[in-house]
Amino acid sequence: MPMMYIGKHKHVVAYPVSRSLITVSAYISDVSKEGTPCGEITAFSPIVKEELLAAFTGWEPEVQVLLRSMNEPMKLPITRVVPLERYSFGRVLIAGDAAHGMPPHQGAGAGQAIEDAYILASLLCHTSSTRESIPKIAKIYNDIRRPEGNRALQASIEFGRLLDLDFPDLEGYKEGDDSMPLEILEALGRKASKDLEWVWKNSVEGDKRRALHMMD
Ligand SMILES: Cc1cc2nc3c(=O)[nH]c(=O)nc-3n(C[C@H](O)[C@H](O)[C@H](O)COP(=O)(O)OP(=O)(O)OC[C@H]3O[C@@H](n4cnc5c(N)ncnc54)[C@H](O)[C@@H]3O)c2cc1C
Repeated sequence: MPMMYIGKHKHVVAYPVSRSLITVSAYISDVSKEGTPCGEITAFSPIVKEELLAAFTGWEPEVQVLLRSMNEPMKLPITRVVPLERYSFGRVLIAGDAAHGMPPHQGAGAGQAIEDAYILASLLCHTSSTRESIPKIAKIYNDIRRPEGNRALQASIEFGRLLDLDFPDLEGYKEGDDSMPLEILEALGRKASKDLEWVWKNSVEGDKRRALHMMD
C-alpha cells in the first residue's frame, strides 16, 4: 500500500513495485531555493546514507527502516518548468516535460506527456489533416493541452507544499513539534486524498473530442 510520511519541509513517499521491492523517495525542501536556477546538477548523484538518515532523525521507525534499506541512495534536485504561455510556435510543438515539466509529487508528469501525444496523434490522424494543416493542428494542440498541462504543473507544485506542511496557517509549527492538533492532520489527510483524485478520475477523452471538433 502506498504511504506518504509528511513533515515540515520534508516528506517520504513509499510504495511497492513488486513483491520484494519498494520504491522510496525522500524529499527535503529548501524553500529559499524555490524559483532559482538549478545550475549543472540535473542528474542523479550518490548521497551518503548517513546524510540521508541524519535528515530524518526522530521520524517514525518505519521511515528509518525504509531509508536504511536503500542500497545505493541517489539524490536529484527537483526541477520544474515555469508555466509557458504557448506549447506551439507556428509549425513547432513541444510536449511532455519540455512543455510542463513538473515536480514529481502527484506522479503525473508521464501521464501528461502521454496525453499530449494522444491528442496530437488524434489530430494528425484526422481525415482532413494535411501538411498545410500543421499550423492549425499546432494551434488546436496548444489551445487544448496548454491549460491542462499548466494546471497539472500547478497542482503538483501545490501538492508538494501540502506534503511539506508549507502553509501560512502552519508556520508556527517546526520540525519535531508534536503539538499539532489531530484535527489539522486529519484535515490535511482528507485534502491530500481529494487533491490527488484528478490523477485517476480525469479523462482525456473529452479534450480529444473537443480537439477533433475544432478540426471539423
Ligand atoms: C524522481 C521522479 C519520479 C517521477 N515519478 C513519476 C511517476 O510516478 N509518474 C509519472 O507519471 N511521472 C513521474 N515522473 C515524471 C516523468 O518521469 C516525466 O514526466 C516523463 O518522463 C516525461 O517524459 P518526456 O518524454 O517528456 O521526457 P523524458 O522522459 O525526459 O525524455 C526525453 C528524452 O529526450 C532525450 N534527449 C534530450 N535531449 C536530446 C537531444 N538533444 N537529442 C536527442 N535526445 C535528447 C533524453 O535523453 C530523454 O531520453 C517522475 C520524475 C522524477 C524525476
